[in-house]
This record gives sequence, structure tokens and C-alpha cells, in this order.
Amino acid sequence: MPIYEFDCKECNQSFEELVFSASRIDEVTCPKCGGNQVKKKMSTFASKVAGGSSSFSLGSSAASCGTGSV
Ligand SMILES: [Zn+2]
Repeated sequence: MPIYEFDCKECNQSFEELVFSASRIDEVTCPKCGGNQVKKKMSTFASKVAGGSSSFSLGSSAASCGTGSV
């Protein structure tokens, strides 16, 4: 269930909203003041997505496998 947490910028109300489609996030309004100045917070149960494995070491592998001078 894609439940997102939102913060209202106008009244600082925190609330959760069930958003089925990502395009509906812009349509979420604050249940307290009805404003649409809401900011999506990180979902509580989706915070285990640890992204950041930067595989940036490509090429230039100095293969110094011993000295081949026999
Ligand atoms: Zn509000």
C-alpha cells in the first residue's frame, strides 16, 4: 500500500495519505486547512532502500601481477 507522509507548509500538519499513483501526489491536499502546499516525506516503511552503491571504478585496473622478468 503506497501510503505517503505529508507535511503541510501552511499549518505544519503532518498526515498520511494513500496515494495509488505517483501523479496523484500533486493533488494531495491538507486535511486540516485544505491547502495544497504539502510536502511529501519519506515513507516510513520504504526507508530501507539504501541506494548509493556507486560503481564508478571502471577501467585503469593496474594489473601488477608480479614481475614477469625471468
Ligand atoms: Zn494545512
